[in-house]
Amino acid sequence: MQTTIKAPVRFTGVGLHSGAPVRLTIRPAAAHHGIWFRRTDIAVGDALIPARWDVVERTPLCTKVVNGAGASLSTVEHVMAALAGCGVTNALVEVDGPEVPILDGSSAPFVRGILARGLQRQAAPVRAFEVLKTVEVRNGEAWARLEPGKALEISFHIDFPDAAIGVQDKVLTMSNGTFVRELCDARTFCRQSDVDAMRAQGLALGGTLDNAVVVDGDRILSPGGLRHTDEAVRHKMLDALGDLFMAGAPLLGRYTGYRAGHSLTNTLLRAAFAEPGALRMVTCSADQMAQLPGAGVHMDEIPAVA
Ligand SMILES: [Zn+2]
Repeated sequence: MQTTIKAPVRFTGVGLHSGAPVRLTIRPAAAHHGIWFRRTDIAVGDALIPARWDVVERTPLCTKVVNGAGASLSTVEHVMAALAGCGVTNALVEVDGPEVPILDGSSAPFVRGILARGLQRQAAPVRAFEVLKTVEVRNGEAWARLEPGKALEISFHIDFPDAAIGVQDKVLTMSNGTFVRELCDARTFCRQSDVDAMRAQGLALGGTLDNAVVVDGDRILSPGGLRHTDEAVRHKMLDALGDLFMAGAPLLGRYTGYRAGHSLTNTLLRAAFAEPGALRMVTCSADQMAQLPGAGVHMDEIPAVA
């Protein structure tokens, strides 16, 4: 069934790029509402922004959504991954600034908050997009692909020059609580050289060694080290789940990202929606519902380290 959160839950933190304090509240919403954002600091004009692929502004660093009135919200991918991974289909996400709080750089704090409030099943069947045709997009050496499949399977390959990350591959099917157990605590990561470049442009001002894994060559600079030896590829899969949820409904199909990022995953969704017959919205059967990312999620499976 469609699902919302039982009661509002609030998170406070700083924006990764602005460094400014920000509050985010996930509120319950009616069946068929979908996921929407609202900028509570915007008093004049349209402050509602849909969590939807066609309002994503393709930027390399994060997923940013912008409505027709120009109201925008950056870094929505980790809260989107948490909502997708917990099976929340309807919610109003209020934020009092231009950027979602980065918290610990993963989705685990959002997941813990959502599951602690509890999920409310609603009197409407959940709908999903079946992938019927293979769609692929490329940008240089990077590519991303959607293919037909019974459940959402995410497969990712990364290849970084820093030995601390290097080449990592992973494939997981997003059902039976996989997201909470395997991915939700994987933190965003970056290279020290990128941090220096971003700071020079006035970005990543809220970034600290507590909310991102920073690597330099073969060294992990963040105290405490990694939560998983392959935390980097797990985080890319987390990002992909959040970015794919911008389809407006869960996807039933296989996603492969090869050195892909937020922008390319959005280009893939745009290509899939532009290709006649590539996606079909279905009312999920009981069998399909059991395959969705939120099926089988349990709070006690959030990794203890997060
Ligand atoms: Zn991320």
